[in-house]
Amino acid sequence: MVMDARTLHTYLERIYNLLHRELRHSGSESGLQPTQLEALHYLSICNRYSNTPKGVTEYLGQTKGTVSQTLKVLERKEFLVKEVDKEDRRVIHLKITAKGKGALEKSVPAANFIRACQSLDAKTRQQLAGNLKTLLGSILQAGGSKSFGVCRTCRYNRDDGDGNFFCELVRAPLTRADVQLICREHVDAA
Ligand code: SF4
Repeated sequence: MVMDARTLHTYLERIYNLLHRELRHSGSESGLQPTQLEALHYLSICNRYSNTPKGVTEYLGQTKGTVSQTLKVLERKEFLVKEVDKEDRRVIHLKITAKGKGALEKSVPAANFIRACQSLDAKTRQQLAGNLKTLLGSILQAGGSKSFGVCRTCRYNRDDGDGNFFCELVRAPLTRADVQLICREHVDAA
């Protein structure tokens, strides 16, 4: 069977709905809704240039008002704290608290999703990851959206050797840990 766009869309839509349902279930213990978990998850994998309300809004593709409400709830329940940028006081950084990290570890990925992945052999998982990455790249290109890719794959990332990296966009040094994170300014090196 030739996979047309409608068939692929149907599979992905069903997977998205099931993942959302699983997140609703896994987050209930911590009192977190799927969108709140998604915002926390983003903040756990993004770098210091991206952990802002604007970064969350762009990544989740939701309205500013919706994200603002989500962040207010997460702050009130002490899953995150807001910090003013040391160099530019207009910029607010969102930092996950230990409580937020704990809730995230328990809920994302949901247990059923982990079981489903473990039931696939390593080769299938690897092929799947490669195919999903390719599809994601095509969707981003077709829609002109930001890549939010991993820093080490960015055009502006300069590898200075010995675990030292440098961002040529913001002109700042990067650590080995920094380059594993995703960034809202990322531009694919390829
Ligand atoms: S190198 Fe690219 S991804 Fe990394 S911090 Fe700079 S702009 Fe962001």
